Amino acid sequence: MKYPKLRELKEAVISLLTPAYTTKYPYAEHIPFEGFRGRPVVDDLNCVGCETCANVCPPNAITFTDDPEKKIRTIRRDYGKCIFCGQCEEHCITRKGVKLSDKIFDIADTDRSRNVDIQQKELLVCNNCGAVITTKEHLRFIHKKLGPKAYSSVLNLNVLNEKLRLAEDQDIDVEIVDNLKRKDMFNILCPNCLRLVLIKYL
Ligand code: SF4
Ligand code: SF4
Repeated sequence: MKYPKLRELKEAVISLLTPAYTTKYPYAEHIPFEGFRGRPVVDDLNCVGCETCANVCPPNAITFTDDPEKKIRTIRRDYGKCIFCGQCEEHCITRKGVKLSDKIFDIADTDRSRNVDIQQKELLVCNNCGAVITTKEHLRFIHKKLGPKAYSSVLNLNVLNEKLRLAEDQDIDVEIVDNLKRKDMFNILCPNCLRLVLIKYL
């Protein structure tokens, strides 16, 4: 029979005399340690729906669905799949769209739908081909970040006009019925269609 070494005996005695590191949760309150990465919490006012967090989420817990007809982007965050890696927070372009809570650790539930967040954002869609450009909030965020430089793009000027009302909708957001014309440079177009106008007419 092997006898325990002195070091092991010492550790066993210390363990017996020191309080437990674990808590008796749920019977006693559990306070997570500093820097704990818990459930991600979304701040919808600071989330622009840009899709960056979905692209960096390792288990694909964040998904985006675009409905160009209704001009709606739906963002679905399934915390049942989340591995609490913090990539979404780290790469969020606004730095405030999503943050991992250092308090919410218990997300066990019999109903998985209670662990899902759904957000909806208004989309900007090309008036010619119907392609999704991005969300309106995303474009406004870029404008704010770039300042006046953003308005070297006609698309950005059109979105700025929505805010400032410098021109009436019918003058800039007109239906395209007879193929792309030079005037459509001032319409809401995706980069591909805008390029076609510029190549053809300028
Ligand atoms: S913490 Fe990681 S796994 Fe969870 S939603 Fe964010 S990126 Fe995805
Ligand atoms: S990266 Fe940030 S702003 Fe973009 S969709 Fe995710 S949470 Fe929202």
